[in-house]
Amino acid sequence: AKGRGGNQYQIYRPGMAKDLSRKVLIEQSLHKALGNNEFFLVYQPIIHAPTGIIVGFEALIRWHHPLLGMISPSEFIPLAEEAGLIHSIGIWILKTACLQSKSWQKEGLASTYVSINASARQFDNDDFVKTIEQILDETGLPPHCLRIEITESTAMTNVMEMISKLTELSRLGVNISIDDFGTGYSSLSYLKKFPINTLKVDQSFVRDISKDKNQEAIIQAIVALADSLGIHVVAEGVEAVEQYLFLQKMGCQDMQGYFFSKPVPPEQVEDLLRNGCSF
Ligand code: C2E
Ligand code: CA
Ligand code: CA
Ligand code: CA
Repeated sequence: AKGRGGNQYQIYRPGMAKDLSRKVLIEQSLHKALGNNEFFLVYQPIIHAPTGIIVGFEALIRWHHPLLGMISPSEFIPLAEEAGLIHSIGIWILKTACLQSKSWQKEGLASTYVSINASARQFDNDDFVKTIEQILDETGLPPHCLRIEITESTAMTNVMEMISKLTELSRLGVNISIDDFGTGYSSLSYLKKFPINTLKVDQSFVRDISKDKNQEAIIQAIVALADSLGIHVVAEGVEAVEQYLFLQKMGCQDMQGYFFSKPVPPEQVEDLLRNGCSF
């Protein structure tokens, strides 16, 4: 295509039209995906490393698209946010995960918690906290068995409002986790103004353990500071035994990653819990 100014031309890549039509197709399909039962949740165990006991699960959404196959949440969640569909999808996620956890508890399988990702947009809805309270009531899941994961950037949008909403949630007994910690702009001392129970050290820091001494120092500092503030640390993306050993040495007790288990469907969670789940 010819550009506006004299001899300037817009760069055209053959893939561009394809990318655009994929995006349009995904956006259109998103409107029907919930009604068509195309979403499902998988659960990734969070392990207390010193004992090998599963303490919780992170619920992660999956979408099987009828034409495109599996689509990553990293691709469709931002589109669902743009389209304003994250509210209804988010409610479905909360209900499904709480119901599932409650049913594991009823079967006497475990008293684990379930950790659910919430996007900033969900907090725009003034009824969000009330909705969570209702879902806990309906499903009978004890509030302390629910964690809400928010990223630093979510925490930092509308700070006063977020503090007040998170405080309400925390009064209900729900735990709050800061996700992808270290990738945003917040500082731990600032985050202390928020009612936070846990922070999840981003997998980018864990990935470079034993390759990069600076990364090790950063993890060490995060764990020490979190400790002094009474905040619990979970390390994400633990894939290798060296990472596991280093984190344990740093006093980081809770870990999540392929080293222990990939996110798995509910049937496999039941197997993990029944078999005593020690790693
Ligand atoms: P996240 O919340 O940081 O989730 C962790 C991601 O890392 C997940 O990818 C998980 O499958 C992956 N992961 C876990 N262990 C390892 C590991 O050892 N190595 C590596 N390389 N990756 C690991 P997933 O499920 O594709 O989700 C991607 C992102 O999409 C999530 O990042 C989260 O931001 C978003 N997301 C996923 N499910 C939901 C949801 O239910 N609601 C919302 N709002 N966002 C979601
Ligand atoms: Ca997360
Ligand atoms: Ca994360
Ligand atoms: Ca992430």
